[in-house]
Amino acid sequence: MHPMTRTIIDYFEQINQIPRCSKQEQQISRWLQQWAMDRGLAVKADSAGNLVVQVPATNGFEHAPTVILQGHMDMVCEKQAGSDHDFSKDPIRMVQDGPWLTARETTLGADNGIAIALALALVDSPEVTHPPLELFFTVDEETGLTGVLKMDPSLLSGRILLNLDSEDEGVFIVGCAGGRNTTINRPLDVKVLDGGFEWVGVSAHGMKGGHSGVDIAKHRANANKVMARLLSAGISVAPMRLVELKGGTGRNVIPRACEALAACRRDRIDELVKALDSLARIIEQEYRTADPGLTIHIEKKGPAAADGRGVTENDTAMVVNLLAALPCGPAEMAEDFPLLVQTSTNLSMVEISNDALAVTSSQRSSVPSRLDAMCLAVESVGRLAGATVHTGSGYPSWPMNRESPLLKRCTSLYRELFDAAPTVQVMHAGLECGVIGDRCPGMDMISLGPTMENPHSPSERLYLPSVEKVWRLMVALLKAVD
Ligand SMILES: [Zn+2]
Repeated sequence: MHPMTRTIIDYFEQINQIPRCSKQEQQISRWLQQWAMDRGLAVKADSAGNLVVQVPATNGFEHAPTVILQGHMDMVCEKQAGSDHDFSKDPIRMVQDGPWLTARETTLGADNGIAIALALALVDSPEVTHPPLELFFTVDEETGLTGVLKMDPSLLSGRILLNLDSEDEGVFIVGCAGGRNTTINRPLDVKVLDGGFEWVGVSAHGMKGGHSGVDIAKHRANANKVMARLLSAGISVAPMRLVELKGGTGRNVIPRACEALAACRRDRIDELVKALDSLARIIEQEYRTADPGLTIHIEKKGPAAADGRGVTENDTAMVVNLLAALPCGPAEMAEDFPLLVQTSTNLSMVEISNDALAVTSSQRSSVPSRLDAMCLAVESVGRLAGATVHTGSGYPSWPMNRESPLLKRCTSLYRELFDAAPTVQVMHAGLECGVIGDRCPGMDMISLGPTMENPHSPSERLYLPSVEKVWRLMVALLKAVD
């Protein structure tokens, strides 16, 4: 390992001794405040728990503009099945595997502990010269940017910000999408099944799923939309009454499975099953390449219970029409980056419970007015179905600034240092920079970081040679800002 990488990983190892699952950042926060106090550095915190450590300039750099180094304190705490690791007290056990750093049984926490390690190493390193720094460490990034959404903008005086929460060395992120979730709720007319009904189960599962922003244009199936197509085919051939429906596991996830139970008159059930089956095979065929795990099961489950209840035919049709009509998937590509999605929506969760339908849809766009338009489309479909619709405030986009002096400087330094051009990208997902830029007008920002794979899972790993490259770029940048 390169000696500087060793030093940075030593800081990371200290950070990894301290529990810091999302919403449980008290210990890491206290440790960081102690670290600052030991060095005589001032610390400010806001009511959400976000911290800023103020670091004076090194000699000769007092008049250079303040630079903010930013990352989040929390980590996603995931472990392998069967592991008895206790994230509330056990340290993350790091293991080196050739050029990769990984953790035994758990997430590594390089997302985003490596950002903190890089910042602390910079401040402590006697050879590094730098302008006044603000180390901005946020809480609870991983469960929806909730820490930064509550930030007090007066914490920050600088207007140049380096976010260290990106996952590909050599890629500069310079913009991101904003997002909002819409919920659609409607009571359902549920009545007793008055004799002569049989159950039929419809299950669509085995899909890849993935992140509803980053993976939205990968042609994967959305389990809830697959179910909507199947149920539509069903009600077009035989009277059908929904009894149970559940699909999707989270707002930010493309649903991998959706299950339904319906009731149909005994004399029509074979017709119904045949129609469902034939569409099922067509849909499986459609996704054979992009989502080959997709499997659909249609199963007759015998006579309905004597006291069984089901949604009326009318309201079943309403549910099916609503799910079939809701927009889903990428809607528009970016004008500047034709391979990147500008606007999308994901039908993330559907459920019938307590005689009511609950639907969640998650919209994203890098263009704020297009986000409004997509939310309007989703809400309007809900209103047509007589439902109550509500769209949350979400998080803002980070519009790319092509004239960004920081981007220009980082690009030219990268070329000088590594004799290669960095890739410049915008993300179809929420980043803390979007919120910071919204709260602190005039902020010049870029997001970068060392290469890591499989963050948020126990196979998370960090590519060590990329750590030193990020370090060298940061050191060169801090010397060059004026
Ligand atoms: Zn992160």
